[in-house]
Amino acid sequence: MPETPDAPTLDQAALARALSGFHLIGGKLTRPVNGKLFPVVNPATGATVAEAADGDAADVEAAVADAARAQKEWALLPSRRRGALVHQAAQLIRSHVEELARLVALETGKALRTESRVEANNVADIFEFFGGLGGELKGETVPFGPDVLNITVREPLGVVGAIIPWNIPMMLMALKAAPALVAGNSIVVKSAEEAPLAVLRIVELMNRVLPPGVFNILSGQGPECGAPLVAHPLVRKVTFTGSVETGKIISRTAADKLIPVTLELGGKSPMIVFADCDFEKTVQGALTSMRFTRQGQSCTAASRIFVERPIYDRFVAEMTQRVNAMVMGDPLDEKTDIGTIISPAQYEKVQGFIAEGKNTAGAEGRACARMPEDPALRKGLFIQPHIFTGLDRNSRLVREEIFGPVTVVFPFDDAEAVLQDSNDTEFGLAASVWTNNLKIALRFAHRIEAGLVQVNQNLVVQPNLSYGGVKNSGLGKEASLESMLEHFTHKKTIMVNMA
Ligand code: NAD
Repeated sequence: MPETPDAPTLDQAALARALSGFHLIGGKLTRPVNGKLFPVVNPATGATVAEAADGDAADVEAAVADAARAQKEWALLPSRRRGALVHQAAQLIRSHVEELARLVALETGKALRTESRVEANNVADIFEFFGGLGGELKGETVPFGPDVLNITVREPLGVVGAIIPWNIPMMLMALKAAPALVAGNSIVVKSAEEAPLAVLRIVELMNRVLPPGVFNILSGQGPECGAPLVAHPLVRKVTFTGSVETGKIISRTAADKLIPVTLELGGKSPMIVFADCDFEKTVQGALTSMRFTRQGQSCTAASRIFVERPIYDRFVAEMTQRVNAMVMGDPLDEKTDIGTIISPAQYEKVQGFIAEGKNTAGAEGRACARMPEDPALRKGLFIQPHIFTGLDRNSRLVREEIFGPVTVVFPFDDAEAVLQDSNDTEFGLAASVWTNNLKIALRFAHRIEAGLVQVNQNLVVQPNLSYGGVKNSGLGKEASLESMLEHFTHKKTIMVNMA
């Protein structure tokens, strides 16, 4: 059995093999009870790079039992001490950033320079940020009279179950695990089938500092491994990022147990561009907002772009030209801007949307950026970014989340009408407005139905800033002190009669 290295390694293939076939339960790399494995495939080459433990209810039972035991001791530590340990463990992530970036690029096909390295750095930031908040788990005193002392204290919930997707697996795990742990909970994560390796390595590294049993991770399929985790009686909180459909299934199970859930779900985010915007910056913003670098596999991707008519033609032409200049290729090559789609199923789904757009009368789909020519990438799941115009507002491409490198662009003449169009969606995750008119920017920021509105920028969410969607995009917030207090603790009221 290959051993996982202590020191950071840049040999991601060997590291993937060393992590093969394990969960991490109770501080130890552990084989699945049923002995079953499933392949982890590099989407850029089609090669199997590792085999992941195909966990089920028996592994869930073992992990939750350990987590429940460990949580009792963990909750008794002073909260600043817990924070200090999480912060210390974050330093191991920091020193392994390059290793983690290469590993996640290998399993997800996300380009190293534009995506994977950024994600790995964010993970260290998130654990450091929450590690510093141990002292903020404060309560209140509530006046009643001289003989009564009313106080509230923040207590952990117990064992947290976390279920994550594959698109930014390390960061989405960190946004759940960091506040959960600092608040005094233990956690069992169920990783995404497509990307189980880098997150397992993070949990392994952090277990060198944290007490055994507080931070556990299982790999496996949703119904066989995720569902029993959600249903386990000792799991007292579920936090989930993924599709709307799965979010609803998880909510129903949680409702039967009467436990709280946090849900971060899909999006169909509008980008609204006024003619007075800073043109250069805004075209670049469209590329960033659409996350072409991640093949559009982003919940906040600007997949509906509305451009004021006077600059519409120029905007579409310039955007097309810039996407054309992006380099699609080997995710591990520093020259690559755009990597691959995650899986054959996702590939087929996205190609289906593109074909439908191309077959729509009156629509035009511009295929941008060249397909890689390297024969080693022949089986890679590359899709050319597509910019569609001329589509009907009711087209599936306009209404449904594609989760691929496809955006639709519309001209507009009337600000009020474009506001209605922006909100004409089941989703409400993110939006951006591009204008130099402060009045318009603020009016839109107030009236767009979304959890996040950015004006003249599109930055990655910061750990200290609350993030989460409305409508079908989710329930509850991640990041920020508030997410730790509201979603990973309960407020206990203590009333003392001193008379
Ligand atoms: P998915 O719902 O298919 O899978 C997500 C996770 O849920 C996986 O780990 C999967 O194994 C698990 N799962 C599936 N069925 C389950 C069940 N019955 N019980 C418990 N767990 C189950 O989502 P996906 O297609 O992998 O991810 C893409 C989706 O995630 C998109 O809709 C995207 O918008 C969303 N997403 C949202 C955010 C956000 O912050 N709002 C961020 C990233 C991705």
